[in-house]
Amino acid sequence: MIRKPLQAFIGFFLLAAGFLLQTGLSVQSAEPLRALIVDGQNNHQVWPVTTQMMKKYLEQTMLFQVDIATTKPKGTDPDFHPDFSQYAVVVSNYNGAAWPAETQKALASYVREGGGFVIVHAANNSFAEWPEYNQMIGLGGWGGRNEKSGPYLYTNAQGDLIRDTSAGSGGHHGTQHEFSVVIRDREHPVTKGMPLEWLHTKDELYDKLRGPAVNMHVLATSWADPAQGGSDRHEPMIFTVSFGKGRVFHTPMGHADYSQECVGFITTFQRGTEWAATGKVTIPVPDDFPTAAKTSSRKWSAP
Ligand code: ZN
Repeated sequence: MIRKPLQAFIGFFLLAAGFLLQTGLSVQSAEPLRALIVDGQNNHQVWPVTTQMMKKYLEQTMLFQVDIATTKPKGTDPDFHPDFSQYAVVVSNYNGAAWPAETQKALASYVREGGGFVIVHAANNSFAEWPEYNQMIGLGGWGGRNEKSGPYLYTNAQGDLIRDTSAGSGGHHGTQHEFSVVIRDREHPVTKGMPLEWLHTKDELYDKLRGPAVNMHVLATSWADPAQGGSDRHEPMIFTVSFGKGRVFHTPMGHADYSQECVGFITTFQRGTEWAATGKVTIPVPDDFPTAAKTSSRKWSAP
């Protein structure tokens, strides 16, 4: 009497194990997502290091294969023509001279047609004069940005999102310090499962960014403490923009190597890049993620 159900159970178990094995294998043999990091000019001298850090962070997920496209060190590089269409996602670590017009056009078309685009820290200082770029990144700073660039966007103490069209320059930060990141959308794939508040390592807290801020969705904010020279506003710190069929992921975090060693930054960057590439997130929130009271870093050592 017992044999039959037991046999059935074993049979089912083997079937399930076989299925899992097959799915596991098919996941492992899936083509990697191709990512391109663009760099070459930046007022942050650490950029060759942060590019390597971001490359490694993506490769560590086992999801990405990463290439780097570097402009010449000064001025518009007439030979800078990456084939964006070969990539699931483009990450910008670039803050420098304008790209050739055809390269600008190629990036905008690539994103509009469904490509992923990721903006980290000073990449949002670039290209103040390029309207499509500013639509793609939502908000930017410096480069002569002002009320003509679009509103300031921030959250007030009540949690309401404010579009502030008052006059003034775009882009500012106080002294570098550790600050809290507060999740505003706990259901978005990028932020789902993160502690609702976590402490980021020392970084510049960009405030008073401004831009078109169209089709933009704020996932997390940080309060720019006036005691640190900040704006006293809850500034967007993790956000997305949709541009045509493309997904843009933007974090103003990541000023220095020690800022990018933060496990909160690493996880946000990995998940944001996966989301920009595919619209989904499979990368888990790791056990060493920061808490509301305690930062968490993974010390970088060059490979
Ligand atoms: Zn910076």
